[in-house]
Amino acid sequence: RMFNELQELKGNIRVYCRIRPFLPGQGEKHTTVEYIGEHGELAVVNPSKQGKDRRRNFKFNKVFGPDSTQAEVYSDTQPLIRSVLDGYSVCIFAYGQTGSGKTYTMTGPNGASEEDWGVNYRALNDLFSISQNRRDSLIYEIQVQMVEIYNEQVRDLLLSDDASMHPVTSTSDVLELIDVGLKNRAVGATAMNERSSRSHSVVSIHVRGKDLHSGAALHGNLHLVDLAGSERVDRSEATGDRLREAQHINKSLSALGDVIFALAQKNSHVPYRNSKLTQLLQSSLGGQAKTLMFVQLNPDVSSYSETISTLKFAERVS
Ligand code: ADP
Ligand code: MG
Repeated sequence: RMFNELQELKGNIRVYCRIRPFLPGQGEKHTTVEYIGEHGELAVVNPSKQGKDRRRNFKFNKVFGPDSTQAEVYSDTQPLIRSVLDGYSVCIFAYGQTGSGKTYTMTGPNGASEEDWGVNYRALNDLFSISQNRRDSLIYEIQVQMVEIYNEQVRDLLLSDDASMHPVTSTSDVLELIDVGLKNRAVGATAMNERSSRSHSVVSIHVRGKDLHSGAALHGNLHLVDLAGSERVDRSEATGDRLREAQHINKSLSALGDVIFALAQKNSHVPYRNSKLTQLLQSSLGGQAKTLMFVQLNPDVSSYSETISTLKFAERVS
């Protein structure tokens, strides 16, 4: 309820920033991101400047510091999951440069135990448990789809002919499907050299509910999107396939930014048609839909300029 009240004040787009910790063996730890506190503030320090221009401040709906746990990050997301079962469309994105923790936030580390589960496992677990609890009055059907968008082409990670929906009845069904999808994504990756950082992956969950007494139906969607790395590629160095990939990523991330910006501004024209990603999500972005963007940061000073460009993207859509 609190969340809904906030949304009426702020619109349907929220931005949460997450700073990942330094990793073991990362070498000298010089941070460029200062996590300030409880109210969504953070500062970025420019290593090559002194004086008052050295720090730049940002503010988002929430900032999760390097010590935050998967459970803490998810607890602020959970109200959105509930609203899927009330018939809303929800899109959750992870945005940031490669290595900033997008997959960690959405899926968790490789072979994660339950404690390390990312948003997508937790969300599905909740969808099932909440839907079971409501079974006296509502019957739910839940279906899952998983695709990858690479060079503006959509590939079905569950290997059905037409990127179709798979009915699921339990969390373990979904875990199995996501694992199949992740394995298929990895297959592409070895062949094409770490392709996963240069493609978007989209797990979509469609929920249909029927009220047993009135017969009324509701229809909710949840899209969990692990975006391609947002790092800029040096045009003078990239050639051939690498340049083409970079151009596609650039185009689709800016198309996504333009759509969310237009929605945040309540513009009458929303440019959905400029990328495969925004076309795929068109019916779930805008209107009554709710959007959450996780903006992921690598704290290292060597990432200073990527961090600034990531935060500028986030500032524009928030
Ligand atoms: P991306 O998907 O943005 O390329 P990853 O999620 O693969 O980045 O994260 C890069 C590395 O950092 C991985 O080894 C991951 O396990 C680790 N990592 C990311 N976020 C965290 C975190 N919050 N806590 C611990 N390790 C993390
Ligand atoms: Mg990743």
